[in-house]
Formats: sequence, structure tokens, C-alpha cells
Amino acid sequence: MLIDTHAHLNFPQFKDEHEQLVQNAALAGVGIIINVGTNLDLSRLVIDMAAGHEQVFATVGFHPHDVEKVDQPGLNDLEALVGSEKVVGIGETGLDFYRDYAPRDLQEEVFRWHIRLAKACSLPLVIHSRGAEDRVLEILGSEGANVVGGVLHCFGGNIEQASRGEELGFYIGMGGTVTFKNSNSLSVAAAVTKERLLLETDCPYLAPVPFRGKRNEPAYVLHVADAIAKKMGISDKELAEATTLNAVRLFNLPNVK
Ligand SMILES: [Zn+2]
Ligand SMILES: [Zn+2]
Repeated sequence: MLIDTHAHLNFPQFKDEHEQLVQNAALAGVGIIINVGTNLDLSRLVIDMAAGHEQVFATVGFHPHDVEKVDQPGLNDLEALVGSEKVVGIGETGLDFYRDYAPRDLQEEVFRWHIRLAKACSLPLVIHSRGAEDRVLEILGSEGANVVGGVLHCFGGNIEQASRGEELGFYIGMGGTVTFKNSNSLSVAAAVTKERLLLETDCPYLAPVPFRGKRNEPAYVLHVADAIAKKMGISDKELAEATTLNAVRLFNLPNVK
């Protein structure tokens, strides 16, 4: 069994196809999907969707692109969602210095807020980092985020940064970019300790080859797994077992076979 540890099933690209997506995933051997919230409304929606689907779990948070719209009542409302059933993580949160949609100091402030919330409720962090890996690692270190750990999702840093993430107690999430010819993601993925690797789609974005450029979905995590297993020189089964166990351990999931 595989687990898609980072999907956005409530993004508008999927409309009302949720049943189909979960079914496609199950047929491809993807038994669990972690559906990630990126703002208050979507955090509510991912909780609702998890309630209706046994295989789907939820995380709640404000994406760094969205932090300018965050106010104190919004933070309070998000905090109140944490106790909801099937919420298994805090995020996605983090820093995006590539798009820079929101001021960096504000991104950092809201990122630190998420880390403190994760520590207060003992849930792992789902971290978005783009063009900001060193700063993200610095903040995780200074805030003592190793207590809860989490995942550096869709990891775009280098091997050295990945290993610093591992040392801080974090898992490294890899997605469709490992199948892109012009990306060094596959080399980074293959260098990650097998016990620290997670698979994801980040759908609807970043569809792996042979679907590159099309809409991504959880079933396609199979192609991510296949590329990494080949590069590591291990069987698909061995990689699936290792990464599934990692996800179960990090998010405290039921071990569905
Ligand atoms: Zn992200
Ligand atoms: Zn995401």
C-alpha cells in the first residue's frame, strides 16, 4: 500500500469528483490520502471530507501565500479546528521566498505561530518551503520544532539541506518532480534515509511523467514511488513498505493494509 501524504482534494480543479479520486487511488494501491488545508475555509472543507471518507485524513493551516489575509480571529478559528476528528497535522505552513506573495516578515511570524500550535497540541508540521530552505531550517531549529517533527513537503532543496532536515527530526516529502528530466529532485530523494522518506502528489499540481502538465491526482503517487525505487535500486514493494510505515509513524495513522 502507498500513502499520498500531501494532496489538495478540495481545490477547485477537482470540483465534485471526490468519490472518483478516492476510488482511483484505491485501485492504484494508494490506501490513505492526507488532504491538506491552506486557509481557514479549506481547512474546514478538508475536515468535512475526512469525515466522509475512511481513507482520507486532514491537516489545517495557513499557506505562506495566504498569510496577508490572516487576522487574530482567523488564527483563533483555526486553532479551534485542531481538535476535530481525523486532523493529523498542522499546515501547510512555511516560507515561500520564490513567489513572495506575502511579506517575508509576516510569513515568518505566521510560520512561528504554527510551530507553537503544533507543539501545544503535539501534532506534526506540514511544511512548505520554496527558495527558503535555509531560513525554514533555522526557524525550525530555533523554535524547537524537533519535539513534534513533521514533513518538508515537495522538498526542493539540496542533499545537504535534506540531511539537516532529517537531523532536526523531519521527514522529506517527494513528489512528481522526481520524474522530471530537468530536476535534481530524484538524486535528492535517493539520498534521503529510507526511514525518513515520504511520498506525495501535491495534486492538483506537479503531475509526474507520463502525466506531466496535466491535472495530478493521488493515484499517480505510484509513478513517484516507481522512479525513486529504481534510483535507489530497491523493489517498489520495499519502497512502498518503508514510506507507508514512515507516514503511519509520523501522522499516527491506522495501519491499513
Ligand atoms: Zn506546498
Ligand atoms: Zn500543498
